[in-house]
Amino acid sequence: MDLFDNIKKQISSLLNEKKMSFSKIEPEASEIAIYTNDPYSFFSNKTIVGEIADKFKKRINIRTEKSSLMDSAEAYNKIKEIIPEDAGIKSIAFDGVFSEVVIEADKPGVVIGKQGDVSKSIIKETKWIPKILRAPLEPSEIIKKIRGYAIKNNTERRQFLKEVAKKIYSPPVSNKEWVRMTALGGFREVGRSAILLETPDTKILLDCGINPADKNEEAPFFGVIRFPLDELDAVVITHAHIDHVGFLPYLFRAGYRGPVYCTEPTKDIMALLLLDAISVSEKTGREALYGEEDVKEVIKHCITKNFREVTDIAPGIRLTFHNSAHILGSASAHLHIGDGKHNLVYSADIKYGFTRLYNNMDANYPRVDTLILESTYGGKPLNPSRNKSEDRLIEVLNETHDKGGITLIPVFSVGRAQEVMIVLEEYFRRGKLKAENVFIDGMTREASLIHTVYPEYLKMNIKTRVLQNNSPFSSKLFRSVDYEENSRENVLNSPGSIIIASSGMLTGGPSVAYFNELADNPNNSLVFVGYQARNSLGQKVQKGLKSMIINDSKGKTKTLNVNLRIETIDAFSGHAYRQELLNYVTSLNPKPKTILVNHGDSCPEFARFVAKKFHINTLSIQNLESVRLR
Ligand SMILES: [Zn+2]
Ligand SMILES: [Zn+2]
Repeated sequence: MDLFDNIKKQISSLLNEKKMSFSKIEPEASEIAIYTNDPYSFFSNKTIVGEIADKFKKRINIRTEKSSLMDSAEAYNKIKEIIPEDAGIKSIAFDGVFSEVVIEADKPGVVIGKQGDVSKSIIKETKWIPKILRAPLEPSEIIKKIRGYAIKNNTERRQFLKEVAKKIYSPPVSNKEWVRMTALGGFREVGRSAILLETPDTKILLDCGINPADKNEEAPFFGVIRFPLDELDAVVITHAHIDHVGFLPYLFRAGYRGPVYCTEPTKDIMALLLLDAISVSEKTGREALYGEEDVKEVIKHCITKNFREVTDIAPGIRLTFHNSAHILGSASAHLHIGDGKHNLVYSADIKYGFTRLYNNMDANYPRVDTLILESTYGGKPLNPSRNKSEDRLIEVLNETHDKGGITLIPVFSVGRAQEVMIVLEEYFRRGKLKAENVFIDGMTREASLIHTVYPEYLKMNIKTRVLQNNSPFSSKLFRSVDYEENSRENVLNSPGSIIIASSGMLTGGPSVAYFNELADNPNNSLVFVGYQARNSLGQKVQKGLKSMIINDSKGKTKTLNVNLRIETIDAFSGHAYRQELLNYVTSLNPKPKTILVNHGDSCPEFARFVAKKFHINTLSIQNLESVRLR
C-alpha cells in the first residue's frame, strides 16, 4: 500500500510538528482514522483536523485507543449528567471498535451544544467520541432495525473498510488509458437501471435495479459480467427507488462483498423498500429474489457520503454526489476518472423544477465530458402548471367526497407520497379539503418518518416545521392503516375518505387490494400522480381497461369491472418534464461532448431532439451495448 504509506508519512510529520499525540494512522476506505490517547486535544484544536482534511481531500476520523476509553457503564452516567435534559435522549449505545458513543436524541443540536461545547465535554470527560443521530418524530421499527445492524457488526466493519482501502490505494497496473460503459438495464426502458463502468484498472457498477412492472424482464443483464464479483470495485447507488436498487441484495447473495456508496437517507429508504419487496413477494406467493439476510449485508456494506463530498472509490476514480431533487437523498453521480482525463455525469432520476419537499437540483459540476441523461418524460411535450394541478387534485377529491365515494391515490411510497401529503395537509389547514380522513397504507408512514430524521435534506419551510416538531406528515388528517380501528375493512367503509397506498403503478401491495374493492363503483375515484410504466396494471387502467379477471380474497377468479372515475394529474412527478430536461442541458457549462439518453420510453426520439437542439453527439443505445468514452 505504497500510496497510503506516503499519505501516512506526511500526516505523521504534520502532527509531530504541531506536537499532537497520536498512536497510529489507518485507512478506513477512503477516509483516514487517527488513533490517539488524547482525543480532546484534536477537538479543542479543530484547525489541525481541518488542515489535514483539506490537504488530502479526505474525511478525518479521530479514534481513541481502547485502553484510554472510560468504562462504558461509568461513561453512560457521565454522559447523562453532561447532556441537558431537553435534548430528549432516546438511546445511548457504545461502539468500542470505533470508540464512538451513538446518541439518539430528539434535539441533536442540544447534544452538540453551542460551538460543540456539550459534545466536547463528553470527549474530555469520557474519551468516547459522540456520534449524534436524530430520533424520528414517532417511533419507527425500520429505523431502529437499520441502526441496530450498524452497531452490532463493527469488528467486521473495520476489516471491511481496510479491504476497501487496499483496493483504493493499490497502484495502477496498466499504463493504457481507456474508459468504457456498458448498458446492463434501463436503456430504452424505465426499470432495472444498471450501468457497468470500466477502465483497465477498475470496474464499477452504477445502480442495480429491477423492473417492477415486468416480471419477464425483471433483472438487468448481469450475464455479461464475465468476471468474478470480487473484481467489482464498487457499487454506486443514486437513490433508493426499486428500479435503481431492487437487484442489489441479489448481487450480495451471489457473493459480492464490496462497498455500496450512497447518501445516508438512501441507505435507510433502501432498507425499507428492499425489506418491503420481500414481504410483497411473500404475499403474492412468488419466491423472493433474496432474503432479509441479503438486505442486511447490503446495509452493512454501505459507505455513506454527503452531497458534494469528494471521495476516492477505486484507483484513479473519484465520486461526488450532487442533489438531484427527485426523492429524499437522491443524487446524480459525478465521476472523475484517471486524474480528470474523463469526467462522467450520471444524472440518474432528476427533477429540474419545483418540488415542495427538496432544494433545487445541483447541476453545477466542475467538469463533464459525457452525460448519461434520464428521459422519463422526454417523449412528452407536456409541462403542466403545478398550481393548477394542485387545485385540480383538490377538486376531484371534493367531488368524490360529495358523492360519498372514496378516492384511491396509488403512490410510490417515497417521494410522491410525501409531495401529495404536503399538498393535502396545506389545503386541509386552509379549510379547502372536504375529506377529514386520509388513510395511509403501505410503506408511506415509515418513509415519511425517515424524512423527519434528515431535515437538512428538506426545503427550508418543511425543515423548520420538522425541527419544531410540527411535521406536516404528523397532521391529524393522516391515519395509518392498521389491524384495529383503522383496518382495511373499516377504511373501505368510510365514505368520503381518501386512501394513499403503494405501489404507485398498481404492481402489487395495498393499492391493488384497494383497487379490487373500489373499481366497480362509479362514485369512487382513482387518481394517478406518478409515472405508469409499460405493461403495469396502472398504465392499462389509465389507458381505459374496462374489465379484468382477478382472484378474490378467497382465491376464486372473478371478473372485475372498472367503473370508477380515472384521473391523471401529472404535475406531482419527481421527474423533470421535457422542457425541464432541456433546461438542465442548457444550464450545463461547459457542455458535455456526448450525451447518452436512458430511462425512458422514447429514448431514440428524445436523443434526436437533443442532438438537433444542442448540436451535441447524442446517443440512445440499447441494453447490452457498450460505448467507449475515452
Ligand atoms: Zn426514481
Ligand atoms: Zn428510476
